[in-house]
Amino acid sequence: MRSQRTIKKELTFEGLGLHTGVHTKVRLRPASVDTGIVFHRVNKNASFSAQVGSVIDTAFATTIGNERARVRTVEHLLATLSALSIHNLNIEVDGPEIPILDGSAIQIAELILSAGIKKQKKKMPYIRILAPIVLEDTHSSVAIYPYEGRKITFRLFFKNHFLGEQSMSLDLSEDTFIQEIASARTFGFLKDVEYLRANGLAKGGSLDNAVIFSATHVVNESGLRYADECVRHKILDSIGDFSLIPLPIEGHIVADKSGHTTNIRFLKKLLSCRECWEIANDEVEKEACPVLSYSYIY
Ligand SMILES: [Zn+2]
Repeated sequence: MRSQRTIKKELTFEGLGLHTGVHTKVRLRPASVDTGIVFHRVNKNASFSAQVGSVIDTAFATTIGNERARVRTVEHLLATLSALSIHNLNIEVDGPEIPILDGSAIQIAELILSAGIKKQKKKMPYIRILAPIVLEDTHSSVAIYPYEGRKITFRLFFKNHFLGEQSMSLDLSEDTFIQEIASARTFGFLKDVEYLRANGLAKGGSLDNAVIFSATHVVNESGLRYADECVRHKILDSIGDFSLIPLPIEGHIVADKSGHTTNIRFLKKLLSCRECWEIANDEVEKEACPVLSYSYIY
């Protein structure tokens, strides 16, 4: 059983939000055991934990918040925390969106690794999958199967596009995340850029923070970081979304063309299928286990 972990010292990063175009500063502060991952919108006097009940929007990004304030595009930061097993953290944000940086999670991962990770004096419980859980949406699906470890398989299919099919299967660890996933960037299609802009989205988007594809080629002059960068980025997004159950999940996630909306629907189904999983950690008192405090589980 692993210990709970936080960061050794405070760190900050800042930049433009992909969708809002607003410059935001983020401060990550160490937190004590059993805090979980908690966002604080400074100047708005609003705090909310990174859990599925806080999700208020899943269109083009995952947005969490409450009636007072929100934070958009949390998935890359949350994916990094999940992959590096940071369980307790206070995240102070002075704007409406986590900065997109270079479109990937590598800068955040490097910042956290350079600040250092601190083991805490309490074990971290985790969810062990006992029976398959499957969610089918119109054009996508997500399933999880019993597995010793954290594994994710993703398949992506671009109909009538030169990208075609991409699929990848990964045993998630700190090393595989850094080497295979963290550098994969946000991507989009030239034909969608106008639509996004017309709907007030992607205001901060540029070729510096997203890979853009035309019908026939990669628009960015620098090209791709991986031939299959898209599916790697979808895995990154999924790791972030799945971390909104605030306990690590041991199991094999198999996702087919899923996005934020399907991922969050899947998490709700997982939580409600109480006989499909157990909390593994004999040392944890039921009352002290944060995931069990959510009323919709029972
Ligand atoms: Zn993303």
